[in-house]
Amino acid sequence: MFELPKLPFDRNSLEPFISAETIDFHYGKHHHAYVNNLNSLIVGTPFENAALEDIVMKSEGGIFNNAAQVWNHTFYWNSLAPQSETPSTKLLQIIDSNFGSLDQLKEQFLKAAAANFGSGWTWLVKTADGKLKISSTSNADNPLKHNEIPILTCDVWEHAYYIDYRNARPRYLEAFWKIIHWKMVENRWLNENVSLDFFHQ
Ligand code: MN
Repeated sequence: MFELPKLPFDRNSLEPFISAETIDFHYGKHHHAYVNNLNSLIVGTPFENAALEDIVMKSEGGIFNNAAQVWNHTFYWNSLAPQSETPSTKLLQIIDSNFGSLDQLKEQFLKAAAANFGSGWTWLVKTADGKLKISSTSNADNPLKHNEIPILTCDVWEHAYYIDYRNARPRYLEAFWKIIHWKMVENRWLNENVSLDFFHQ
């Protein structure tokens, strides 16, 4: 049985960028529903006692969709920080060598996220050859399925922003950029272990 992971911050601490009402629905209803659905779907299957990442890697269909959405949302909440952060000098060097500058990364990331058609996720990933790359996936899809390590994610499903920004995804993306947990991004880049144990460090 999986449980809804604890939020790493208070429900109102991302305001004014993401409201407590959005957290109540997005975390309290949507994320929670994926956990409940997953628990129902795995009963009596080979995944009943499997680790979440094993299910993400090996399942398909409804079980995959719900397992990946549990993973993706947990990672999304851990991608956000109540206090405004800036990338460290060390992380900036990695960003500069892959994108030219932090401004270039922002421009390219927000452009990719705005253009990610329909429901999905836009990520920073570490590729197999050690590059930092922007990647967009659809629906519940997760970079782990494509041999890439998630470093940062932005949820672009409408339920992530409709309460606060209505249909204006670009305004949500600008807000998202202001609350990125850059320390987590750096830790994630340095940490080759992609286990969900990461969330408990
Ligand atoms: Mn979501």
